[in-house]
Amino acid sequence: MGDTLTVGGLERLYTGSIWAEGPVWVPSSQTVRWSDIPNNRILEFDPATGTTQEYAGGVEYTNGRTLDADGSVVQCSHGRRRVERDRDGRVTALVDSFQGCRLNSPNDVVIASDGSVWFTDPPYGILPGTREGHEGDQEYGGCYVFRFEPGPETLTAMITDLVHPNGLAFSPDESVLYVADTAGPGYGVPLRIVAYDVRDGQCSPAGTGVELEEGCAADGLRVDVQGRIWTSAGPAVRIYTPAFELLDSIAVPETVSNVCFGGPDGRDLYITATTSLYRIRTATRDTASRNPAPNHD
Ligand code: MG
Repeated sequence: MGDTLTVGGLERLYTGSIWAEGPVWVPSSQTVRWSDIPNNRILEFDPATGTTQEYAGGVEYTNGRTLDADGSVVQCSHGRRRVERDRDGRVTALVDSFQGCRLNSPNDVVIASDGSVWFTDPPYGILPGTREGHEGDQEYGGCYVFRFEPGPETLTAMITDLVHPNGLAFSPDESVLYVADTAGPGYGVPLRIVAYDVRDGQCSPAGTGVELEEGCAADGLRVDVQGRIWTSAGPAVRIYTPAFELLDSIAVPETVSNVCFGGPDGRDLYITATTSLYRIRTATRDTASRNPAPNHD
């Protein structure tokens, strides 16, 4: 099954997080940056040296992140209830409110080729007893997928019918947006990924998606250059076709939160999974527009 999609075995590169999340490959430093959310810090792995260092601490519970066209990192902060930009260590707010209400706790983010910033806003960083932020109210009364346009600044609720939208990724031509919903049976819905057609500035259900069994949340996902979906699924990474046929499953020793493509040629899959960062070599790479890597074919 899927023997051409990965090459070699899974490597554990770092362990010592409480809940690792939000990986992105940073081309300017040739490193993988990710969040250790409950420890309130950001870590960075350098594949050239095989070492991990703390990139920043006291970061207000960052979660998912992506790369903008200018090479800066755009990330979600549960604690600041906002999406923010990190340009060479200088962190500035992008968006923190919707119609006068604070956001919940932005979870994951992607940037479209037109520069618009799409992010999910479930409540995990404001729930009672949270270790991933600060307790607080859901001020606008939902958990939406938003599109933020930087200039002039507008924030639009694009998807309002998911319970806890979480990971998200576009198809290579950006005609489809895949969104994970991690609410699950306790909220009367299955763990699932739902596909939306993106057309004329609107999102509408595409009628496709996949339901995952309990304990196998599709928290974070990425789409490769051939349009396949690489998603966390409990203690595994699953790879689906755009029609959601299962192509392969990579077993991981811990619960997986998220993935990203990276490495010098963009073909390494980095996996954040509970306490650890893992890597496996693949035969593909991320869509070039969202994870530019030099020397790829
Ligand atoms: Mg997430």
